[in-house]
Amino acid sequence: MKIRFIKAKSILTRSKFGGYTLNPYIGCLHGCVYCYNQHFIKKIGREEKWGNFLEIKLNAPEVLEKEITEKEKEEVFFSTITDPYNPLEKQYQITRECLKILAKYQWPVSILTKSDLVLKDLDIFKKFYSFIKIGFTITTLNKRSQMILEPGASSIEKRIEALKKLKKAGLSTYAFIGPILPYFTNLKQIFGILKNKVDRIWFDTLNTKKENWQGLEKALKLHFPKILSEYKKIFFENRRKYENQLKEEIEFLGKYFKIPVKITF
Ligand code: SF4
Repeated sequence: MKIRFIKAKSILTRSKFGGYTLNPYIGCLHGCVYCYNQHFIKKIGREEKWGNFLEIKLNAPEVLEKEITEKEKEEVFFSTITDPYNPLEKQYQITRECLKILAKYQWPVSILTKSDLVLKDLDIFKKFYSFIKIGFTITTLNKRSQMILEPGASSIEKRIEALKKLKKAGLSTYAFIGPILPYFTNLKQIFGILKNKVDRIWFDTLNTKKENWQGLEKALKLHFPKILSEYKKIFFENRRKYENQLKEEIEFLGKYFKIPVKITF
């Protein structure tokens, strides 16, 4: 694993979805096989295998403190090219220090993670009152599959337990089910387990643009060869039909479990 320390020139990046994104790190030690960043980091000149390196923006809090007084107040999303709670956050606390500044200025924040390390910042989350949402990504409830697909992330049990604690603490919580992975993502079970733990569930399907698909294809070939041919049929032959059925299922389950849903595909 390679660790580098870098200096950020700026830290609040305009998002095409509105608001800003904030990446305290570049790279992610969770190493999800389907992570779309595997392709993106090549574009920005990083050659290491995804999951094997992390760049730490030591000066991120300092840069944020300056930018926050110059920019318009809008929601800040953590993160797009890292997980803000990847394991080294425990040691370097860059996410925590940035959150302290955002809380001080009462900027709205949304966090998405796959790590229960997020619980260490509960004291800061409470300072945002209603201006913070904390979400967990869940793709599968199956232990073996999760360890293959998301090897460095917290176990599903830990993620669910963390959501429960965050909700109990009075915070706004959500789950992101994305990418939905046929044969791994059991929507009915996921709705059931998330009941009373989240305020909303977001859904997205798999982006199979050439480079985005390569990591998952490799993992399927190695660990689930029988499923690989089914994926090819679903995503490259019957995608529209599959997505329409999925939408119906999600809408039905959302009403059945009384959890608001947001479908982004
Ligand atoms: S946690 Fe997110 S950023 Fe990290 S490897 Fe997984 S998908 Fe990529």
